[in-house]
Amino acid sequence: MRPLMRVALVVVGFAALVVLIARNLPPAWDPRTPLDLTAAPNWLAASKLAWMRRDPQACFAAFATSAIVITRVPDRPSTTGCEIENAVRLASTLRTSPPSPTVTCAVAAAWTMFERHTLQAAAREQLGQEVVGIRHLGTQSCRNIGAGAVRSQHATANAIDVAGFILRDGREVRVVADWHGPPRDAAFLRAVRDGACRWFRVVLSPDYNDAHRDHFHLDMGRWGACR
Ligand SMILES: [Zn+2]
Repeated sequence: MRPLMRVALVVVGFAALVVLIARNLPPAWDPRTPLDLTAAPNWLAASKLAWMRRDPQACFAAFATSAIVITRVPDRPSTTGCEIENAVRLASTLRTSPPSPTVTCAVAAAWTMFERHTLQAAAREQLGQEVVGIRHLGTQSCRNIGAGAVRSQHATANAIDVAGFILRDGREVRVVADWHGPPRDAAFLRAVRDGACRWFRVVLSPDYNDAHRDHFHLDMGRWGACR
């Protein structure tokens, strides 16, 4: 057989193998299928989640696949960079205070992964009980970052500021008081901060600056940061 023919056969054989594998992938390992937010995450989960920032339909499909009911929030155009698009009421199994904040679908999806696969595990491991509620400082606010000229991710409801975690025994672990508080509470908050970085694009804690001394900022914007 001529060398060229041999190479062509190898290429065709390889292409056929790739097609065969792609057609028979289990859904969890298939990059084309919606992410099941309730299933134990594999290494594809974070990239599927990141993709939802650019493809809101993939985000809505993920909630449908996961059988999690979401309430859509109507789009609201803006000429000042504060548009609300593809937003939902935060879908959480936790008591949320204030209730039902508006967030982008991408933030809601990241939150679901965070809550189910990071937050409760950290609470059980560090504190021996589960989280039943969160206290947040807001999701949507038409403003810039600090005193700068760049719009905050909060301007488009693409972020959430979490100030405290209410435990099953009624106690609240607060970022402002417990970041440098009792060792187990401080360890829990650091585990939550570090774990959130797997799901959110930007995670800012008291380690970042004084503006974040009392909350974790979690967003699904373009940039990546874990501080
Ligand atoms: Zn924030």
